[in-house]
Amino acid sequence: MQENVRLARHTTIGTGGPARWFATPGSVDELVDALRWARHGGIEVETIGLGSNLLVHDQGVDALVLKLAGELAAATVEGKLLVAGGGAANAVCLHRARAAGLGGFEFASAIPGTAGGGVRMNAGSYGCEWRDVLVDAIVCSADGPRTVSVDELDLSYRHSGLAPGEVVAQVRFQLAPSSPEAVKERAAGLLAQRKATQPTNKRTFGSVFKNPTAELGAGRAIEECGLKGHRIGGAVISPRHANFIENVDSATSADCLALMAEARRRVYARFGIELEHEVRFLGPLELPAL
Ligand SMILES: Cc1cc2nc3c(=O)[nH]c(=O)nc-3n(C[C@H](O)[C@H](O)[C@H](O)COP(=O)(O)OP(=O)(O)OC[C@H]3O[C@@H](n4cnc5c(N)ncnc54)[C@H](O)[C@@H]3O)c2cc1C
Repeated sequence: MQENVRLARHTTIGTGGPARWFATPGSVDELVDALRWARHGGIEVETIGLGSNLLVHDQGVDALVLKLAGELAAATVEGKLLVAGGGAANAVCLHRARAAGLGGFEFASAIPGTAGGGVRMNAGSYGCEWRDVLVDAIVCSADGPRTVSVDELDLSYRHSGLAPGEVVAQVRFQLAPSSPEAVKERAAGLLAQRKATQPTNKRTFGSVFKNPTAELGAGRAIEECGLKGHRIGGAVISPRHANFIENVDSATSADCLALMAEARRRVYARFGIELEHEVRFLGPLELPAL
């Protein structure tokens, strides 16, 4: 168990303070031990993947933060199943699937997270999401591991029914035969589409807010309020896509939160819509009431 580990380098936006406790369990046994240690000490548990949808409080998090490693961050193929540790990067999963001649996971190639983070968020893009390919997951708590089917996970738009503190240790994706060339081509095509509209080479945490309706995306609502390029401290609402915040110059999480509050306030005033944040908060972060 490490103490006071800086989390900024574990997030894609690159902001935030330290974790009071930090551990990198490499197996289900080590994970359950860590969860029991925390329960025994009355310590809250948070799990992070690649920190690609995370905003961490600048003063840090008074919790045990887990980052899965070892076999819990590896991926293998068994027949048409891709079996991935909860901490396996989506890029690694796609690589394994492609090498084994399996398609169906290309949609996740440009989502810079992990298999387990994807379950928590029901991550998705271009009309496909985790629940479309997921078979089941091994979910751990201090009581031990249990296998949970995709239906029991209760996945919907950027939502899962996982309880706070529950950790996705492993997932199984059902894929379909496809040639490695076709997988590569589809993934490259989706990446090119994304590069045309989103800031892919900047420090961001992906979508800031959930889309309020199918007709009005969060990005368009914020853009119509004239907020593209709006800056607070070292954070700026992306000039490329208004539902992204970029860390352009040593931003703090407080800068990002202030931009989010301003966007919510302006969208509410203009459209009467209360934007709900998609990015997950770690530590005592809160948006002001509208
Ligand atoms: C450039 C960019 C583009 C993006 N595009 C998309 C997109 O198209 N679609 C999309 O859905 N998302 C997108 N995202 C957001 C993000 O990549 C996804 O939400 C991703 O699934 C988060 O995975 P992660 O492992 O990084 O999780 P983190 O950001 O580390 O954590 C997110 C949440 O998942 C929880 N969590 C993480 N791992 C586990 C685990 N093993 N068990 C239980 N809970 C866990 C965390 O506690 C937290 O609540 C994008 C982000 C960036 C930076």
